[in-house]
Amino acid sequence: MRVNVARKSIDEYKNIVGNEKISEIKEKTKGMKGLKVLHFNSTSFGGGVAEMLHSLVPLMKDIGIDAEWKVMDAEDDFFEVTKTIHNGLQGMEVDLTEKMKKIYLETNKKNSDLGDYDIFIIHDPQPVAVIKFKERGKWVWRCHIDTSKSNRKFVEFLKPYISEYDASIFTIKEFGNNIYDGKRFYIAPSIDPLSEKNRNLKEKDIENVLSKYKIDMDIPIITQVSRFDPWKDPMGVIEAYRYVKKKIPSQLILIGSMANDDPEGLYYYKKIKKYAKNERDIILLTNLDDIEVNAFQRASDIVVQKSLREGFGLTVTEAMWKEKPVVATKVGGIPLQIEDGKNGFLVNDTRECAEKIIYLLKNKEKAEEIGEKARKTVKDKFLITRHILDYLRLMEELM
Ligand code: UDP
Repeated sequence: MRVNVARKSIDEYKNIVGNEKISEIKEKTKGMKGLKVLHFNSTSFGGGVAEMLHSLVPLMKDIGIDAEWKVMDAEDDFFEVTKTIHNGLQGMEVDLTEKMKKIYLETNKKNSDLGDYDIFIIHDPQPVAVIKFKERGKWVWRCHIDTSKSNRKFVEFLKPYISEYDASIFTIKEFGNNIYDGKRFYIAPSIDPLSEKNRNLKEKDIENVLSKYKIDMDIPIITQVSRFDPWKDPMGVIEAYRYVKKKIPSQLILIGSMANDDPEGLYYYKKIKKYAKNERDIILLTNLDDIEVNAFQRASDIVVQKSLREGFGLTVTEAMWKEKPVVATKVGGIPLQIEDGKNGFLVNDTRECAEKIIYLLKNKEKAEEIGEKARKTVKDKFLITRHILDYLRLMEELM
């Protein structure tokens, strides 16, 4: 299924990254005009991959690459299987049955007629086996998840498919080591500073969103934005918060979406709700639109990302861009973004998480200084313009 994307213009990014960067991108594209590139993944809504493709694909089109985005056509049972595969690849002890393999491979086969492109970029494990039906072009597997401690069963099942790709992209070295032996590229994800999720908002707009959800802006706000998923450890966030609120009156906001390739979402939401009991200062919000998420990130005093595994954590990047001090676990791709004590805090457990939150709530100046450094980090390394350049380099090398 083809995804229709909004139009975007690369020139609009000049104000943020400067003329030179944009000229560099245009220069690099010269030899690649009209190159047909397909991005293929499992969902157009929810989660980091969809978030990025909504900006990457239209900007690629704008610079002259013939880029398209398609998503898999699949039933619920397939997404149940791929959620298990996702969990297994991130190291969970879960079973992989013959029936599951059958559902997985059949759906991949059904989705194998992708069309005619020069480069196929296949995202994450869900559609990885479509390579079996490859007829033409160069194929790249872009793995976004944390495969540093994968359950071997799952790697062994997928490796015969993954190894057929011409190249793979990982966010950091540790993710690629055990899963792909061919040509590896290391490319960090990025955010779009002009998207509804990240663009500047007026104070009044922020207040309107918070008042819509009846949030009192005079009480410090601690927020985690994440799919409702065990790897994002929302229970751990609640535990840390319970410690914080004994010391400092504050409120915890957990914002989560239900991606349509994530069947665990609703089940896990109910579990969190139960865990939060009816404590009035723990607020769960679901399926906010992008401007609303933007407003909550901006209204927060501190943003938390207490993941147990994390491919990268765009939520970290988004908060850092908004000059927020982020307290996040030292896992997966997060340390690529946060340098502990400088532009955020890296923590190892719930107690440490609570302590850093308390420290930041008590030291406003330090929190501000960290927030400013955080924005600079994102500006230098994690904006979409850098990401486009990395893709152009990869395509140049492949062709
Ligand atoms: N997100 C959102 N609403 C939510 C929860 C998440 O818009 O309720 C977005 C979030 O802002 C980010 C993406 O989903 O852009 C999550 O990406 P991340 O890399 O943090 O995690 P993933 O979901 O890909 O594991």
